[in-house]
Amino acid sequence: MKTSNGMKILENYDLTKLNTFGISVKAKFFVELNSESDIKSLFLSSEFKNNQRLFLGGGSNILFTKNFDGIVILNKIKGIEIIKEDSENVFIKSMSGENWHDLVLFTVERGYWGMENLSLIPGTVGATPVQNIGAYGVEIKDILEKVEAYEIETGEKKTFSNKECQFGYRESIFKNKLKNKYFISAVIFKLSKKENIKIEYKAIKDYIEKNNIKIKNVADVSKVVSEIRKSKLPDPAILGNAGSFFKNIYVDEQKLEEIKLNYPDVPSFKEENSIKISTAWLIEKCGWKGKKIGNIGMHEKQALVLVNYGGATGEEIKNFSEQIIKDVFIKFGIKLEREVNLI
Ligand SMILES: Cc1cc2nc3c(=O)[nH]c(=O)nc-3n(C[C@H](O)[C@H](O)[C@H](O)COP(=O)(O)OP(=O)(O)OC[C@H]3O[C@@H](n4cnc5c(N)ncnc54)[C@H](O)[C@@H]3O)c2cc1C
Repeated sequence: MKTSNGMKILENYDLTKLNTFGISVKAKFFVELNSESDIKSLFLSSEFKNNQRLFLGGGSNILFTKNFDGIVILNKIKGIEIIKEDSENVFIKSMSGENWHDLVLFTVERGYWGMENLSLIPGTVGATPVQNIGAYGVEIKDILEKVEAYEIETGEKKTFSNKECQFGYRESIFKNKLKNKYFISAVIFKLSKKENIKIEYKAIKDYIEKNNIKIKNVADVSKVVSEIRKSKLPDPAILGNAGSFFKNIYVDEQKLEEIKLNYPDVPSFKEENSIKISTAWLIEKCGWKGKKIGNIGMHEKQALVLVNYGGATGEEIKNFSEQIIKDVFIKFGIKLEREVNLI
C-alpha cells in the first residue's frame, strides 16, 4: 500500500467483485473516493497523474478484457440533498457514488415523480448521465437538470446543463467528446410533485392488465417496474451479466422496407426521427437466444443479455459477442453496436 496525499492507494488489486460480469482481473493501482475533498488530493497524486485512469461505479456496464494497467478509482462519494422546491417541483442533488436505486427509493418514498420507471437499474448515480440510462419509456435526460464534474486535466469543477450533456440514445458527451476527461461528482435532478404517470410502455401495460393492478401512486409504478425487471433479467449476483450487451438499432424507412421483404414480422417502433428495431429480435432470428458455448451464452429469456455462466474471461466474451455481430450482419446487413464499455 502507498499513501499519497492522505489517500490509500493499493497495488495489484483484484476487481472480480467490482464488475457485474464477475471477470477476474487486477488493477495496477486502486483507490476509493469517499468525499468530494478526496478528488483534489487524488488528482495531485503521482499514481493518478502518471497512469491511465478508470472511474468505476457499480461496474455494471463494463467488460474488462485484460488487467487494467493504470489506476482504478472506485466512487463511494455519498449524499442526497433536496436543494430547492416549489409547489410543483423538487430539485434533488445526489453525490455520484450513491447507489442509483437507493436514490430512486428516496424520491419514491417522498411521492416525487420522475425516476420510478428507472427503478432497479444497477450502478451509481454518477454513471447515469454517461450513457443516458433508460428503461420503460423514460431516460435520465427527461429528469436531469445539471451535472457537476471535475476536469481531470485542470482539476477545475464545471457544471453541465442538460443540453450541454448532448444526450442521445445511450449516449452523452461523457461517452464521446469528453470520454475520460471528467469525473462526475454530483447530479441534480428536477422531479415533479404532481402526478405524472408513464405506463404506456407495452410491458408495463400488459403486466398491469394481467395482474389487475390499480396504480394509485408513484410507489405502485416503481413496484410494477421492479417486479417486471426481476421476472425478466438475470440477477448479476447469481449470473454474471451487464444488462443489455448491445444497443437497439435505429434505421430509416428504406432499410425497414428492405428487411420486411424477407421478414414481414420484424418488430419496429416509430420514434421522433427514425425507426427503432428490436436488437433482441435480430439476435433471436439468428438463433442466438438461449444459445450457450462453454461458459458464455445469451440469456434464454432476454436475447440481449450476454451471460457469464462462470469463469469466462473478458476476451472470450468479446469474441463471443463478435460472432453475434457477424451473424446479424450477414443476415440483415445491420452492424450491431455494443452498449457495454470494453476496457
Ligand atoms: C442486470 C442489469 C440491468 C441493466 N439494465 C439497464 C437498463 O434498463 N437501462 C440502462 O440504461 N442500463 C442498464 N444496465 C446497465 C448499467 O446498470 C447502467 O449503465 C449503469 O448506469 C452503470 O452504472 P455503474 O455505476 O455500474 O457504471 P460502471 O459500469 O462502473 O461505469 C460505466 C462507465 O461510466 C464511467 N463512469 C462511471 N462513473 C463515473 C463518474 N462518476 N464520472 C465519470 N465517468 C464515470 C465508467 O468509467 C465507465 O466508462 C443494466 C445492467 C445490469 C447488470
